[in-house]
Amino acid sequence: MSKILKGIGASDGVAIASVYSLEEPDLSFDGDTIEEDEKDSEVERFKGAFNQAKVEITKIRNHAESTVGPEHAAIFDAHLLVLDDPEFLSPIEDGIRNEKKSAAQSLCDTRDQFVTIFEGMDNEYMKERAADVKDVSKRVLAQILGKEIPTPSNISTPVVIVAEDLSPSDTAQLDKEFVKGFVTNVGGRTSHSAIMSRSLEIPAVVGTREVTDAVTVGQQIIVDGGAGDVIVDPDDEEIQVYEDKAARVEEDKAALKKLVDEPSKTMDDVTVELAANIGTPDDLDGVVSNGAEGIGLYRTEFLYMGRTEIPSEEEQYEAYKAVLEKLDGSPVVVRTLDVGGDKELPYLDLPEELNPFLGYRAIRMTLDNQELFRTQLRALLRASAHGNLKIMFPMIATIEEFNQAKALLVEEKNKLKDEGVQVKDDIEVGIMIEIPSAAIIADQFAKEVDFFSIGTNDLIQYTMAADRMNEAVSYLYQPYHPALLRLIKMVIDASHKEGKWTGMCGEMAGDEKAVPLLLGLGLDEFSMSASSVLKARRQLSGLKKTDMEKLVESALECKDTEEVLALVDEYTSRV
Ligand code: PEP
Ligand code: MG
Repeated sequence: MSKILKGIGASDGVAIASVYSLEEPDLSFDGDTIEEDEKDSEVERFKGAFNQAKVEITKIRNHAESTVGPEHAAIFDAHLLVLDDPEFLSPIEDGIRNEKKSAAQSLCDTRDQFVTIFEGMDNEYMKERAADVKDVSKRVLAQILGKEIPTPSNISTPVVIVAEDLSPSDTAQLDKEFVKGFVTNVGGRTSHSAIMSRSLEIPAVVGTREVTDAVTVGQQIIVDGGAGDVIVDPDDEEIQVYEDKAARVEEDKAALKKLVDEPSKTMDDVTVELAANIGTPDDLDGVVSNGAEGIGLYRTEFLYMGRTEIPSEEEQYEAYKAVLEKLDGSPVVVRTLDVGGDKELPYLDLPEELNPFLGYRAIRMTLDNQELFRTQLRALLRASAHGNLKIMFPMIATIEEFNQAKALLVEEKNKLKDEGVQVKDDIEVGIMIEIPSAAIIADQFAKEVDFFSIGTNDLIQYTMAADRMNEAVSYLYQPYHPALLRLIKMVIDASHKEGKWTGMCGEMAGDEKAVPLLLGLGLDEFSMSASSVLKARRQLSGLKKTDMEKLVESALECKDTEEVLALVDEYTSRV
């Protein structure tokens, strides 16, 4: 009998494949000693495990190099060095030969000695080596025990990944050819694994709470990312139903592709900009193939992730330049580093916080780490010569923060000019509106900035006081709530009054039910996962802005989400 789980639909589409679990195996073991006559075979066992681990890590390394670049592969080079280090290998062999320890026990003892030494050192670089030793030892131990450490980049048959959650770096390792979908226990529509699943166009359901307990590895599973349904161990009839649904999804995709070169215009001839959000330059192909008219949000934090140190100015310059050149004069809004919350950078050694989403993140952290911030600003300014760059600061709560960030930008710009470096003169500088304080004084901000981009993922979580990662409060993620619509109206009206523009780069911008409301509110730019652009274009072509203005007038007076949604249905079905 099949089992149906309900979760939150994160990325549309249907996937049918077998389960691949990202849960780590239990690596505890019995038997810490061996007999005299087992020594040779035990040494062989440990050497074989080392060699196998080397093969695995080399594969991961090569995959990382070809997908996310050599800098991200460096961490695996460090792992390979540990596996080749006689200082690490000899004590393990000695432990087996001289003390009759089992391979597993000798490995663990040696690992613990190395970790204690490295962690006790003053030098940050050496402290990080402790993590390498732990990581490598885990892989070798798994080999000794005949178990497998899940490694998404090594997947070579079609699978659906099942996990507690996927970190941004797990998601970056996924190969779309084989990873057909994923399902997690935790997360909501705007957690970063959900956002990444949309840019990768992989069907995904998040926040099921129980999927890891409900499946076994290799079992068949269906993911319906549109409906948020997961069917474990489906019968033939269910498979047929979902195969038909998958075929319909594909047909619709083909129909949408015809709109790639069409303008983004309403029925009454109002043009808006439909832009895409990207995380890495790898997402650029999707931007072009889905006919986005620009990039409304480049989340630069992914450049800083999955590696051991801050990317250099040169490396950042090359990444920004590549994006600007690919967009060939179309607007590209690059957001400065936004770490914290569910996006960690282990090498920055940021303090553990009780409330990371309310803590030391984004602009708060970068204003406090000026070297890091100035490096990014310089890279951006240099790249500005290659296209239509706009710079945006995240998580701005006060005008003071904006002024400080802008002052640093101007300082770096003047320095570069003095050095004779070409920098574009008229770069627009804007802010994300994702904290209610900024929305409330948008009229003040509008005098200072060139544009706003509303980050509803955070704006909703802060307005409703509901953690975007916590599925237990995901019912409060209510993009259509009148409280939110009123905030958005304040922001858009304030910008227009000063002759500025407002975009939206939160997930709401690509939400079918929200698009009519946002059009009526006068939003200028809608920035979304590239995979949603064509759907939004088709939808807009069937709407009249004048009608949507009337819809909004009534929606702003509603008392809850249900009333707003009923109005949206009423107005959009009239067409
Ligand atoms: C947002 O908060 O809406 C946003 C676009 O930023 P992020 O999802 O990266 O926090
Ligand atoms: Mg945000």
